[in-house]
Amino acid sequence: LLQHLCRKVRATGPLTVAEYMREALTNPAQGYYTRRGGIGDSGDFITSPEISQVFGELIGIWYISEWMAMGKPNTFQLVELGPGRGTLTEDILRVFNQLASVLSKCDVSVHLVEVSPKLSEIQGRMLTGGKVQPNPEEESVYMKGISKTGIPIFWYRDIQDVPPGYSFYLAHEFFDALPIHKFQRTEKGWREVLVDIDPEVPDQLRFVLSPSSTPATENFIQPEETRDHVEVCPEAGVIMQRLACHIEKDGGAALVADYGHDGTKTDTFRGFRNHKLHDVLSAPGTADLTADVDFSYLRKMTQERTTTLGPIKQREFLKNMGIDLRLQVLLQNSRDTATREQLLHSYDMLMNPEKMGDCFNFFALLPHHRLVQADKKDKPESKSPLPPVAGFNELLLK
Ligand code: SAH
Repeated sequence: LLQHLCRKVRATGPLTVAEYMREALTNPAQGYYTRRGGIGDSGDFITSPEISQVFGELIGIWYISEWMAMGKPNTFQLVELGPGRGTLTEDILRVFNQLASVLSKCDVSVHLVEVSPKLSEIQGRMLTGGKVQPNPEEESVYMKGISKTGIPIFWYRDIQDVPPGYSFYLAHEFFDALPIHKFQRTEKGWREVLVDIDPEVPDQLRFVLSPSSTPATENFIQPEETRDHVEVCPEAGVIMQRLACHIEKDGGAALVADYGHDGTKTDTFRGFRNHKLHDVLSAPGTADLTADVDFSYLRKMTQERTTTLGPIKQREFLKNMGIDLRLQVLLQNSRDTATREQLLHSYDMLMNPEKMGDCFNFFALLPHHRLVQADKKDKPESKSPLPPVAGFNELLLK
């Protein structure tokens, strides 16, 4: 991949960081997610669903709670962006199965948006026990299967291919993997950070500043910006616009969980290999590259088509969802010390402010009518207040 990128730079000049990141992560032949996708203990980075089943279970409860609050529609799609190893969906579907009596009359389907052939294969094994079929007839749905609990699952490369309909969206550690542009304020104005070949060392890349402004500097920097260094992820913006349009039109909700900030941080672009920080420019394709999610940008890109909630810290969200009670039940049900220690350890990883509790955030999109009562004059009989949104408030399941 390094050779390919160097040839590209020699042919057409320095790359934007977004072009570099896209190639390094999702190049169809050599990208990190395409070939390696090392999530888990033996990989490059660990994620919350891989740490504890409780994480996905509580998210499953969140969707059921929202489904109930929205009047139990008789069908919904669960749409996950970047499902990794499929563990999160697996834990959610287990909850849906345990609460089958509640969901009994609801027709549920699962739609996974995944670019990596390697990870979609792992997801297929995890979720269906291997009962998946490639789907060469239909260009957009590249694979189909049935979950172990009997729910149909479909795989797509692009969110645009997911059929319209009432949908609950989920993006856990997805937006941080999308390509960012980087900008630096200079005495001569904003300049874009680019990736060039180091003239001193053959086949080594380095960062340079664009000599003048670029189309991206013109379009993505807000006039009121006060920071000196800014990262913008236009692809995240486009996806956010789509989610907001779909939710406004067809109903549903979106839950986004990731590390990030609310428009305050500057240089967050970094790489991980074997659970250690890795120089983002060395050996592209062999390490995970990531940047903090700017939730203020995501909120802005909904263009007020939906209500947004959060970001709130992971430990607050999980506490509101009842993680303490769930932990107690699991501890009571486990006899051996090793399991109990494992449960306490994973709880600490998810909740400790020094670990994942504070840096991960939850953010939601909901239709406006979910939080604002329709005009009482039209419906004087509807006196009952709207139920609070779980996670962002304490869970109240009736
Ligand atoms: N949600 C999972 C995995 C996070 S890693 C977890 O929490 O464990 C990021 C995931 O997004 C991987 O599955 C990766 O293959 C996928 N991905 C990255 N870029 C993508 C893109 N442009 N379109 C669709 N999926 C993408």
